[in-house]
Amino acid sequence: MPEPDRPEDALPPRGALPPHRGLAEFQAVIEAIYGEKDRARGLEGTYMWFAEEVGELARALRRGDPENLRVEVSDVLAWLSTLASMAGVDLEEAARRYAEGCPRCDGTPCACDRGPGRA
Ligand SMILES: [Zn+2]
Repeated sequence: MPEPDRPEDALPPRGALPPHRGLAEFQAVIEAIYGEKDRARGLEGTYMWFAEEVGELARALRRGDPENLRVEVSDVLAWLSTLASMAGVDLEEAARRYAEGCPRCDGTPCACDRGPGRA
């Protein structure tokens, strides 16, 4: 289902835009683009859009079209970034939790029976 704030047009061609240097910059860019609208919508409404995008990613995974997958992963990442911003979570700091391997067993690859947060 199309949603109002983030059009589902194809992504720009690779190399058309300067790459984000990292998650902190990505989060700042998403905040600059959507922060005002997201704050007006509120956390619960924004979470609903995030959940809908996750559903669209599920459909894209089922279809397997590479371009559609790129778009849907990008949308989920953008909505996750928005939620992190609204909740006061630094996305790069959150990702750093995995920098040294599995946060539970420190292994790379993970040696736990189940991955962290995947119970
Ligand atoms: Zn582990």
